[in-house]
Amino acid sequence: MTDYDLIIVGAGPAGLTAALYALRANKKVLIFEAKAPGGQILLASKVENYPGIDCISGADFSNNLYNQVVKLGAEIKFETVIRIDENKTVYTNNPENDITYKAKAIIIATGVENRKLEIEGEKEFLGKGVSYCATCDGNFYKGKEIAIVGGGNTALEDAVYMSNIASKVYLIHRRDTFRGEDMYLKELKAMDNVEFILNSTVSKINGTDKLESIDITNNNEETSNLKVSALFIAVGQSPKNEMFNNVVDLNEQGYIISEDGVHTKTPLIYVAGDVRVKGLRQLTTAVSDGSIAATVAMREMNK
Ligand code: NAP
Repeated sequence: MTDYDLIIVGAGPAGLTAALYALRANKKVLIFEAKAPGGQILLASKVENYPGIDCISGADFSNNLYNQVVKLGAEIKFETVIRIDENKTVYTNNPENDITYKAKAIIIATGVENRKLEIEGEKEFLGKGVSYCATCDGNFYKGKEIAIVGGGNTALEDAVYMSNIASKVYLIHRRDTFRGEDMYLKELKAMDNVEFILNSTVSKINGTDKLESIDITNNNEETSNLKVSALFIAVGQSPKNEMFNNVVDLNEQGYIISEDGVHTKTPLIYVAGDVRVKGLRQLTTAVSDGSIAATVAMREMNK
């Protein structure tokens, strides 16, 4: 067992910012990341609403923050945390499963995962036309006709991005007004290769060895078939926190309930970023949570 001042679960903007603050205060910090550092922002083609930065890709933002933290001496392990207990011991999927990690305080900053449509063909054609990341996979569909489903900023941003790559972009949304910002809508309406399919959902994904078409069902229960080479699914995110429910309270959607922002029900276990119940999930609010959680943790760990 190795002892740390602070263990951070999740290397997205909230977790990495928490690490930045703790490392600058000379604390011994360990970060666990199950996938790649950066979290959801890694998937954003452009970030244009971070104060002081005119425009940066999500990948560049993530790399810069990750390198900043590594330079300060953060220890990072690419392991999945499967349980933490109230004594601040962390258990991971490390094959040598007698290895555990202990800290004075823990910050849970595991973010969210892409929500699924839960329709026929979604799992089968994943990576064969179905994608949850236009920035990552968009280039495979240069000059092809593609569809995007969703009505938030991610879907709108993906549609703008794909309109410069694909020959035709169908944007499918279940209502006739969008959750995403007008700025993107204006840009999309001015493009001659973007078509809106409103009051409709994708009901089935068809193909043989790869996606060939999708079924679209409108609010009158009428179903039509649309031939496309890819479907980008951008219908929001949901958290995955069951493994922490011994030390935190979850709301109905599975988000961690916090008192005054960062405290969970267990002393010295904190929460930061998109994973907690909050009103606005943005890069700015994630880094804000990370800095507050680390500062509060450092203040309370030696009491
Ligand atoms: P979101 O804002 O939660 O939007 C999800 C969209 O998917 C909604 O329009 C929703 O429809 C639709 N939807 C949900 N479940 C569906 C289903 N089963 N079938 C069909 N449609 C479904 O998610 P997001 O766009 O990923 O954005 C998440 C957060 O990141 C937001 O706060 C967003 O502002 C932020 N973000 C910001 C930027 C930026 O500022 N550059 C870029 C990307 C994301 P309804 O509207 O009908 O509920």
